[in-house]
Amino acid sequence: MAEIRRLDEKRMRKRKAPCPVCGKPLVPDFRPFCSERCKTIDLGRWLGGDYRIPTEEVPEEGELMDLISEQERED
Ligand SMILES: [Zn+2]
Repeated sequence: MAEIRRLDEKRMRKRKAPCPVCGKPLVPDFRPFCSERCKTIDLGRWLGGDYRIPTEEVPEEGELMDLISEQERED
């Protein structure tokens, strides 16, 4: 099973799937996206909101709770 997965990974890498956000050819620096912008967009989708995350820093637990309560207030 593990070997099959390894083969699949190789195939995926060769095929160069397009950017999942906009469908443009991806740029190695921003894999699996084509740009920093698409990477941020995807991250935003992941978090389920329109929050702009300028860095990859993980928020402190307190900040995270603030974000969550803010989001709840919007709903
Ligand atoms: Zn893109």
